[in-house]
Amino acid sequence: MIVKSLELKDYRNYSNLNMLFSGGTNILYGENAQGKTNILEAIYLCGTTKSHRGSKDKEIVMFHEEEAHVRIVLEKNQIPHRIDLHLKKNKAKGVAIDGIPIKRQGELFGMLNLVFFSPEDLYIIKNGPGERRRFLDLELCQLDKIYLNYLTNYNKVLMQRNNLLKQISFNRNLLDTLYVWDDKLIEYGNKIIETRHEFIIKLNSLVGEIHKRLTGGKEELILQYEPSVKPQDFEGKLKKSLERDLSLKMTNVGPHRDDLSFLIDKIDIRKYGSQGQQRTAALSCKLAEIDLVKSVIKENPILLLDDVLSELDRQRQNHLLNSIGDIQTIITCTGLEEFINHRFEFNQIFHVVEGTVTCNNQL
Ligand code: ATP
Ligand code: MG
Repeated sequence: MIVKSLELKDYRNYSNLNMLFSGGTNILYGENAQGKTNILEAIYLCGTTKSHRGSKDKEIVMFHEEEAHVRIVLEKNQIPHRIDLHLKKNKAKGVAIDGIPIKRQGELFGMLNLVFFSPEDLYIIKNGPGERRRFLDLELCQLDKIYLNYLTNYNKVLMQRNNLLKQISFNRNLLDTLYVWDDKLIEYGNKIIETRHEFIIKLNSLVGEIHKRLTGGKEELILQYEPSVKPQDFEGKLKKSLERDLSLKMTNVGPHRDDLSFLIDKIDIRKYGSQGQQRTAALSCKLAEIDLVKSVIKENPILLLDDVLSELDRQRQNHLLNSIGDIQTIITCTGLEEFINHRFEFNQIFHVVEGTVTCNNQL
């Protein structure tokens, strides 16, 4: 699958942009705050309807404008498709595939598969469990439509249950209605736990070899899923936690409290790893993700690399660039030295300056 073109109107700092991509490696370079990440964000938005930075639509629409438009033309199995997004400041966004509006995000599933790699991803191991769950969910939602459904439903139920817990603190009679949400929480939650468990098994089968290669055979990396609760214990633990839930006015048991541990030679590197170890393990996970997406969707995903090279040392840069292979890649950076030093071949270079993009292949 490849992205052929991108059009933006009143999107962040782009009033009008129209660019054509190569099916190989595309480099977007420019100084800070010029609009490089904004372009990757727009592509990501077309694949997932969400910003990778978690921005709201009203933040994405250009200052002083009311709406923004994004259009992507992509090619999938040699057939062209068009995705249109219409973002509004105070209303839900409109999404259309090949000119036909869609009603649910799930309908976009599988149209545009992306692997997004940003400097923050290098910190998934060091940061809190929320980041690690996000890493799990972002990939799973792209690979598994049913998981996306479970997660959406789970989050809705969790919100309703938490709201009810707040109301019960004023009106104890409402306690009798809590079981309605408990049953649903357990039903969707167990599906999430099972799917995450299987995903980690698959990821482990790929990440070990990659990490060995990255560390010259010195380290063995194993990922371990740490569910907050096992499916068979969910009901019991939820009941046990009732008084705590009521006093804290939130749900304390369930997959929204899961974590993921990273073991190198049996040592938990979340706590004991060096910075370099943590980053390398994160890089191994991302590289494994590319392979995993390839094997599940039986097609190449599009790789979006947001300024990650400058965060890596020379050896790791080399590994990353060498593992890109034949998939369409869009890389942002502030300078071109790394690519020149590595004699890395690129197909298209774009210079980004204050919300304008010029094609610059003479370098
Ligand atoms: P860096 O190298 O620092 O990562 P970048 O080129 O990736 O920079 P972006 O994050 O793509 O930069 O763009 C940042 C620019 O976009 C900033 O100048 C910011 O003011 C502008 N910007 C962000 N949101 C909006 C908006 N809604 N309207 C207009 N401009 C915006
Ligand atoms: Mg940026």
